Amino acid sequence: MNKIGAETHLKGIQISEGIVLAKVCLINEDRHRNIPEYEIDDIQKEKDRLLSAVKIAGEQLGNVIEDVEERIGVAESKIFVAQKMILEDETVHEDLFTEIGNRGVNAESAVNRVMDSYEARLLDVDNEYIKARATDIGEIKRRLLDVLAEVNPTFLCSGLEQCEMGKNRIIVARELTPGLTIGLDARNTAGFVTEHGGKLSHAAILAKSLGVPAVSGIKNIHSLVSCGTEILINGDIGEVVIWPSQETIAQHRVKKTFVLKSPVAEEPVKGTQVMANISFQQDIKEALAMKAEGIGLYRTEFEFLARGRYLSEDEQFDIYSSVLKSMNGLPIYFRLLDIGGEKSADFLELPKEANPALGFRGSRLLVARKKLLKTQARALARASVFGPVYILYPLIIDLEQFLLLKNTVLHAVSDIHSGEIYHGVMFEVPSACLQADELLKESDFASIGTNDLIQYLFIVDRDNEYVAYDYTPDKKVFWNLLKTIATAAAKLNRSVSICGEIAGNTRYLPILKEIGFSTLSVSARLIPVLRKALKKVKNPVRK
Ligand code: PEP
Ligand code: MG
Repeated sequence: MNKIGAETHLKGIQISEGIVLAKVCLINEDRHRNIPEYEIDDIQKEKDRLLSAVKIAGEQLGNVIEDVEERIGVAESKIFVAQKMILEDETVHEDLFTEIGNRGVNAESAVNRVMDSYEARLLDVDNEYIKARATDIGEIKRRLLDVLAEVNPTFLCSGLEQCEMGKNRIIVARELTPGLTIGLDARNTAGFVTEHGGKLSHAAILAKSLGVPAVSGIKNIHSLVSCGTEILINGDIGEVVIWPSQETIAQHRVKKTFVLKSPVAEEPVKGTQVMANISFQQDIKEALAMKAEGIGLYRTEFEFLARGRYLSEDEQFDIYSSVLKSMNGLPIYFRLLDIGGEKSADFLELPKEANPALGFRGSRLLVARKKLLKTQARALARASVFGPVYILYPLIIDLEQFLLLKNTVLHAVSDIHSGEIYHGVMFEVPSACLQADELLKESDFASIGTNDLIQYLFIVDRDNEYVAYDYTPDKKVFWNLLKTIATAAAKLNRSVSICGEIAGNTRYLPILKEIGFSTLSVSARLIPVLRKALKKVKNPVRK
């Protein structure tokens, strides 16, 4: 397909509001598939080219090691130390040189063949640890190929020099998976445009919480633009304009230079507690700056997904304690690991499922992987001496499952001298909502995850733009379900919050208040918006 050269308007799905004009940084997902192979005349020159690529890749890894040590930890940086050692091993260089010399081919082809043969040998060994090292070989190969192609590996784009690692650029990708989103320097990104992905995908939630405009559902955008194409995103209406004219630009109030401004905090509003949703311990800073009255959803799985591995009890304890200390006694709802579905994690070695959204995920996964549950429970119980810990159980399906998990947690922490711990159901599955009475009797509190609740109530994939028209809270049956929970909560005097995205949409504030919800949890950036709107909503008179 030809790249577009004139102004073109494309309609997609509105994901995150705002208007921005910037150049494209195209994430090239195919670049490691078709490796060029050609004959070369000057063998020594090709070997020198390869050696200088090795040197650059080694320097990059050195920077990665320092960065990971600082931002994540020394243990994690060891993976890259091992990769650097392999990369700088002289026998590896000899093998690569032999391949170039014997076959008279380019460096890329030599890297491809030699690294693939190492990988195959490692995968053949009957030892899980050695097998796992094959991943490192693959990563070294990709890094070397990127350097040879002069692509910036940190950013994965197809590589314009002026790309500045995606800074102030609009990221164009087929799909922003949680893994890719975590890898991106999202805070420096001007906007997102994707081919796939619905309004409620985790990447969309991230874009929204960063306040970055985003549009999805733009078919073939990959083929229509290149790195450097100027595009305008109108995140308010879900439109993308390729090569906008000066006239079009003038019609929009465009943020030409992208600077992510922090919103101004608003004081809490009497009668409604507004808490923050966070994914990482670092997010606490913004939550505090926005005067959050607690953390109503800490998606703890992102701490694991970002590191791509299990976290030990001690590591988790350190993270949770630091969050509790920072929040200084305010409530924190720690959601137990909610992995599976679209949040796949290689380190869990989950079975390949035809239908992951209905498979090993959420609480069902925790039932099957009790060690994961017990380790997290112990870390939380130990950390509870620094502040009250509210444990949220994700995607609960019924009372039996909740009791099984809660009892497993209680048993796992029985020898720990802990502080206040509360247990709460996340209402995200219709079967649990229909049992709200029984579940709330056994819970200390609860939270409603409307993102998944809408998905499972209307069997509509929250990530799928093709069926996005059915993904809506604007249906009576949905509100009836919320009323069922609110009625049960009032009868049993339990606090039930809303932590799905509808809590941050001011359009639903009057109805949420009317039904009786007085605790909402949203992205920190939305707290001031919500508080301003709350001041205008009349408190319903209860009879
Ligand atoms: C939800 O489902 O509404 C929710 C808050 O959880 P998540 O978006 O992380 O699935
Ligand atoms: Mg959910």
